[in-house]
Amino acid sequence: MNTDPDCIFCKIVAGQIPAKKAYEDAELLAFHDIHPWAPVHVLIIPKLHLASLAEAGPEHEALLGRMLALAPRLMRELGVNDGFRSVINTGPNGGQEVYHLHMHVMGGPRPWARG
Ligand code: AMP
Ligand code: ZN
Repeated sequence: MNTDPDCIFCKIVAGQIPAKKAYEDAELLAFHDIHPWAPVHVLIIPKLHLASLAEAGPEHEALLGRMLALAPRLMRELGVNDGFRSVINTGPNGGQEVYHLHMHVMGGPRPWARG
């Protein structure tokens, strides 16, 4: 599996940096964002290092589908039952800060800190 030793999310996957995990399987990891915008704010990432959505190709369709399909299940498990927001920031103009593909999934009662 492709990994980048300098990537903070690869370090979370490897257990070298702590994270509050919400879900894990062979391909995906979900953990709580350290600076949450909403009462529930998780990041769903592939375990393989893919810098951004701009790097994704047809070979990643199943993985991307699994990331998206995990969101509603995770929100249900975390007690979010009145809607949620899913965001993937891509590249400099997309506001991406961490260059390991991740999907923000945010929910819980408003008002939110951001978003
Ligand atoms: P983005 O702008 O989409 O690249 O957002 C990166 C997100 O990663 C931000 O919401 C950060 O708060 C979050 N983040 C950065 N480092 C960590 C970490 N060690 N654990 C959990 N979330 C993190
Ligand atoms: Zn990475």
